Amino acid sequence: MNPSTSQAFETTVVHAGEDPERHMGSLSTPIYQTALHVFPNAEDGHLIHEGHKPGYFYGRMGNPTQAALEQAMCEVEGGEAALALASGMAAISNAILSIVEPGDHIVAPASLYATTGALLDGLLPKLGVKVSYVDATHAANYQEAVTPKTKLFYLESPANPTMKMVDIEAVVSVARSKSITTVMDNTFATPYNQRPLDLGVDVVVHSATKYLGGHGDLTAGVIVGRKDVVDRAHWQTNKVLGGVIAPWTAWLVIRGLRTLALRMERHNSNALKLARFLANHPKVREVHYPGLETHPQHVLARRQMKGFGGMLSFDVGGVDEGRRLVDNVKLCSLAVSLGDVSTLIQHSASMTHAIVPRERRLAVGITDGLLRLSVGIEDPDDLVADLRQALQHV
Ligand SMILES: *Cc1c(COP(=O)(O)O)cnc(C)c1O
Repeated sequence: MNPSTSQAFETTVVHAGEDPERHMGSLSTPIYQTALHVFPNAEDGHLIHEGHKPGYFYGRMGNPTQAALEQAMCEVEGGEAALALASGMAAISNAILSIVEPGDHIVAPASLYATTGALLDGLLPKLGVKVSYVDATHAANYQEAVTPKTKLFYLESPANPTMKMVDIEAVVSVARSKSITTVMDNTFATPYNQRPLDLGVDVVVHSATKYLGGHGDLTAGVIVGRKDVVDRAHWQTNKVLGGVIAPWTAWLVIRGLRTLALRMERHNSNALKLARFLANHPKVREVHYPGLETHPQHVLARRQMKGFGGMLSFDVGGVDEGRRLVDNVKLCSLAVSLGDVSTLIQHSASMTHAIVPRERRLAVGITDGLLRLSVGIEDPDDLVADLRQALQHV
């Protein structure tokens, strides 16, 4: 289905990737639980195997259910091509490895999803790729970090767990002037709230484990954007890395996409209500949420986001206070991950960022008493009541 440009996002997500004619009239794309597709003849066998003719032949190289998800992601992000993979990290590592070569240089934000940091610090240097970290809240810092070898700008906004923002258009404009490719992690915002490709970003990556799947019951990732990069990821990088998505998982992500707009509307409004409640609570020192007027980049958030998302973080003072709070919530679940229909809370200093030395943590704003909240779609008053009673123990 080709959505007209005037079609609302709410409509696009319900129908994206739909193609009953190709699937015996089936409105829901079937799960093609097969690793093999037979070739009609030798000539087609050659062409399909080499990617010169569309078709399927072997599970690692594509599957019709996976293709329906890829088509859907092109529609919801506004991209030319997409590749669905086994996890968000498969998508991120694949996208980066499809762009850089030994000797190349990457500029990335200091405040970053921790495992992406481990990829940039651990694997890439072994392949001869250098990385510089910058305070990404100022686009000029990207410009200053550029060397003649810079091939890729990596962006993440809002950033985990500090909710710092990157001015997407400003960074893209620096990149374009120097023929540098931009890759952006859009997991936190989702295409409902933020459309990086429309702002000139070359490639978007997602952990579909989070909002796209939406129910905390799958692990998946997606690369979407410039066709030359996606083709290289499909036919070269992932051919050898093999991080393919399972057909059943691809179907679940499509199922999740159908309600993405509805869920995000509620995630957005619930998070704003909780952010306002926390900002006025005497035991809370600071709340980080782009939708609050007090967020240092609130004006930028209004410019580049439609809504402000379901993620926020707040500071209750010290490590002990943070631990006491998470030990006393009843409705919120003490769990990592995010983007689930249920509300999840975690204490960054003792959990996701426990391995990061304290000085480095503090330098990027991950303070001792910082709690990250992935606000679910429950009734907001019930969530406020739960946090209110838990804060009494802090
Ligand atoms: C979870 C997450 C990832 C990694 O995704 P996986 O599906 O766990 O591999 C990458 N970036 C962000 C922002 C995430 O939240």
